Amino acid sequence: MQTIYQQMDSGELAQTIASLKDEVAAAKARGLALDMARGKPSPSQVDISRPMLDILGADSDLHDGSVDCGNYGCFEGIPSARKLAGEFLGCPAEQTLVLGSSSLLIEHDIVGTFWRCGTCGSEPWSAYAAAHEDKPVKFLCPVPGYDRHFGITEDLGIVNIPVAMTEDGPDMDEIERLVASDDSIKGIWCVPKYSNPTGITFSEDTVRRLATMTCAAPDFRILWDNAYCVHDLYDEGDELANIFDIAHEAGTEDRVVAFASTSKITFPGAGIGFVGASPAVLAEFAHHLKAGLISADKLNQLRHVRFLPTLDAVREHMKKHAEFLRPRFECVEQKLAEGLGSTGCATWTHPRGGYFVSFDGPEGSAKRVGALCAEMGVRLTTVGATWPYGEDPHDTNIRIAPSYPTVEELSAALDVLVLAVKLVSAELAAE
Ligand code: PLP
Repeated sequence: MQTIYQQMDSGELAQTIASLKDEVAAAKARGLALDMARGKPSPSQVDISRPMLDILGADSDLHDGSVDCGNYGCFEGIPSARKLAGEFLGCPAEQTLVLGSSSLLIEHDIVGTFWRCGTCGSEPWSAYAAAHEDKPVKFLCPVPGYDRHFGITEDLGIVNIPVAMTEDGPDMDEIERLVASDDSIKGIWCVPKYSNPTGITFSEDTVRRLATMTCAAPDFRILWDNAYCVHDLYDEGDELANIFDIAHEAGTEDRVVAFASTSKITFPGAGIGFVGASPAVLAEFAHHLKAGLISADKLNQLRHVRFLPTLDAVREHMKKHAEFLRPRFECVEQKLAEGLGSTGCATWTHPRGGYFVSFDGPEGSAKRVGALCAEMGVRLTTVGATWPYGEDPHDTNIRIAPSYPTVEELSAALDVLVLAVKLVSAELAAE
């Protein structure tokens, strides 16, 4: 599609660029300092979980059933927390571990375990890499995606392969084609509900195809990071098919390893993190983890399950979060539609949950837009971060994280983004 700037004659375009530059100069003079960079809840949003901090005191009973949470033991996590974890992840409680205070470290640990020790009788991924010098271990990375996922595999020297996201989740035709014949592709990163950053929820067909596709690697693993499984903005949330049920039926249960945490439910980085997997994969992971862990922080687990004892209680709590988030997401939609809707300069996603909006400008625009926003006092997520190695080949994608600023700050930040996109698009049209 042509942008409005590409349709202008050179005189009109030069005049438009001059007046946009004046607007940029005025914005710079305002000395803004706004942050739309990372997906953090706002301080008042975090405050809604403060009552949890009063739940455990010096006189509290520290038992969960027969488990003494004040002492070593119960490596797998306390029973009430495992029950909740099973409900979150869609698998039996016995197929879960409740570990530390967040999920990313568990994801890092499990990929490290597969790398060092292998899984389900296959050689360690590191041994595969050593034996196939010209065929490195690879991982599929839906793009735009979550930079920290890509960082975990990159850190081990695994080669990250981008795969396009569609409205239904990652491009399954491409994935099926790649994994069917290449046994060096050992897995895929997935954020299946309200994906980071597109907000897309995988369709049932996508979930089914992932769980049932033919993989050349017997040790192919789907890392199913369901970080936003209860993070609906509206009463009618997106529905995600249960991958464990489908995989169980298909006999591919060992393929799925699921994660979640309460980071964006209670306290970021100070919640509880879960992993769910087949009995075989869970047992091997537990075996390796036990080399370095006697038991996780069960007092934190106890505090959490007393505050949020059931999934229904979690959903009620999430409605309070949605009260904060909904106006911010609606502000993004409104500002982008008003500012850029008729310019042909941009497309963006319209999530019904999660923490992000994915924005695409014209080819070759994103880095320049990010830099111009910074000059006007607005910090965006590092441009390119939504692609492996920070390399967005078309330089179009920007992740918008609307949760942290106030609506007023967000509104001002979006005015700046809109202005930057307009000027960069106009300048590109003039080149
Ligand atoms: N997974 C995804 C998809 C995320 O977007 C985030 C945070 O933004 C995390 C994991 C981090 O979660 P935790 O705090 O549980 O490590």
